[in-house]
Amino acid sequence: MPFYDLRCPKCGKEYNISATIAEKTEKRIPCPDCGSFELETVFKGSPAYIKSREGGACPNRHICGSGAAMDEAAEFTKEELDEAHRALLSTLRKCEKMDAGRLGASQRTLLERRIAALKVALALIEKESGRLA
Ligand SMILES: [Zn+2]
Repeated sequence: MPFYDLRCPKCGKEYNISATIAEKTEKRIPCPDCGSFELETVFKGSPAYIKSREGGACPNRHICGSGAAMDEAAEFTKEELDEAHRALLSTLRKCEKMDAGRLGASQRTLLERRIAALKVALALIEKESGRLA
């Protein structure tokens, strides 16, 4: 069963809950605290989390064009995750090797943000990968 990051609007708390795709799209997952079935999907990393209004349809449909359910789009194989991890890790190493002292202030900030973003991505991949292992 996949795990979902869900937020209860009543308690304001976030939970990582294991449930079937059907349970999630049909709102049959109760809040562990108050039992509310109005749990909202939390998208980590976005400044304001996006509410999924159409039963888990991909919010990036206009980009990905698939119209596939987000739950399906978010599933990757262990091999895909490992490959992405390798690629990101080598990018991170390259970024870390860059001599930040020779960059201008704005470029340095950009580099720092990139490094931070890569670390976040790597940590998430490791988490997901560990779940599949
Ligand atoms: Zn609640």
